[in-house]
Amino acid sequence: MRHRLSEARELPDEPSALRVLNPATEEVVATVPAVSAADVDAAVARAARAQTAWAALAPGDRARLLRRFAAAVDDHLEELARLEVTEAGHTLGNARWEAGNVRDLLDYAAGGVERLTGRQIPVAGGLDVTLLEPLGVVGVIAPWNFPMPIAAWGAAPALAAGNAVLLKPAETTPLTALRLAGLALEAGLPEGLFQVLPGHGPVAGDALVEHPGVAKIVFTGSTAVGRRVAAKGAALLKPVTLELGGKSPNIVFADADLEAAAAATPMSFLDNSGQDCCARTRILVQRRVYDRFLGLLAPAIEAVRVGDPADEGTQMGPLISRAQVDRVRSYVPDGADGIRGKAPEGPGFWFPPTVLTGVDARARVAVEEVFGPVAVVLPFEDEADAVRLANATDYGLSGSLWTRDVGRALRVSAAVRAGNLSVNSHSSVRYWTPFGGFKQSGLGRELGPDALTAFTETKNVFISTEA
Ligand code: NAD
Repeated sequence: MRHRLSEARELPDEPSALRVLNPATEEVVATVPAVSAADVDAAVARAARAQTAWAALAPGDRARLLRRFAAAVDDHLEELARLEVTEAGHTLGNARWEAGNVRDLLDYAAGGVERLTGRQIPVAGGLDVTLLEPLGVVGVIAPWNFPMPIAAWGAAPALAAGNAVLLKPAETTPLTALRLAGLALEAGLPEGLFQVLPGHGPVAGDALVEHPGVAKIVFTGSTAVGRRVAAKGAALLKPVTLELGGKSPNIVFADADLEAAAAATPMSFLDNSGQDCCARTRILVQRRVYDRFLGLLAPAIEAVRVGDPADEGTQMGPLISRAQVDRVRSYVPDGADGIRGKAPEGPGFWFPPTVLTGVDARARVAVEEVFGPVAVVLPFEDEADAVRLANATDYGLSGSLWTRDVGRALRVSAAVRAGNLSVNSHSSVRYWTPFGGFKQSGLGRELGPDALTAFTETKNVFISTEA
């Protein structure tokens, strides 16, 4: 079946293979054949067949198989973590957390299968019930920055709600996704139910978005590509969830525990080398404590251990690619004022922790997503000024505020236009609480108690008692 638009037909039938590099050494660790649009067609047909049987299983049986999948992930946690270190340069500690997050998501979603209930609504002359039916085949398009968790954010609840899942990982990070698909089969999930389609975005990703047999797309990636995916989805009236970029604030008020705020700041934007959609890259500090805060921040940044991600003690590893290093560098002018940490020399895609001071609040680096270990510090005068600055970007994904004043914490949390806020902490993501962005950071929510419902269609059935 050919169904793709004319621009895509110009692409070669056999897309070039994906070369997976170790970002810490630049060595090629794997070459993975890339799927074509025809492969996507065949995968959708297989998924549709598997989905029909999967949805017909008793809820308890579906839940049991998902728990077995979770157990298989747990049994292979170290292997998955090491694979993530190798293909994505994540620190070993982070990668272990990420594999554990996949296990926990599968367990959590499995717990929802028997609880996915509709409603009974009072009506005259009969019984009215709502049924939550699976959508069918769901496409999950994942980025390279958190290959495993983000794949599972979409796949686990979609499977639990009775759908089949086709996962397209990013070009640079297909290995953990492929291993997860293997573990799903080993755990007993039916053939075709959870397939991984490693491939190029404009070929495999686009084919998924445009395929009439794919009922919903869960897209996580850049705002630019997300907008295109949404436009194509709109043309087909296909629901699309978008988890996109961020430029999140870390607001430090003068009444905060400054030592605690400064100590927590480095990893709030350096975790995953800053390649984190929730990175707090706009550090907003009340002017009267600005100098004191910077005095506390500088040694904390300089102390961050940057190096071999496979080393247990490493806090920050390399960036994903040479292109990403070049992109990050383009935001940091030579000789710019600020604080610089250390990074290894030699092979690998390294960039040191960097905090820029004296930056105009409207400068590119202050409003655009850098997606690297770079933050700016901007002073503010009072609460109103802090809120104005926090909201002065197109994004609205997450943010933090540090204050000892509970009233202020509540007022500012209400005023900042972002989907995930934390007070006196930088945590954003728990699989059992909802996650998603305002403004250009996205559409829809993932995770949390409503995650399964997002992968269902509501059907209302009236049964007459008059006949
Ligand atoms: P990207 O947009 O370049 O790619 C994301 C995915 O889309 C990849 O799998 C890619 O192959 C695919 N793709 C590319 N072109 C496509 C097309 N035309 N049709 C369909 N699919 C296509 O993003 P990236 O560089 O891989 O990821 C980094 C971005 O992801 C950052 O902006 C980051 O903030 C964002 N992100 C957001 C969240 C969130 O939850 N909000 C989480 C992680 C990452």
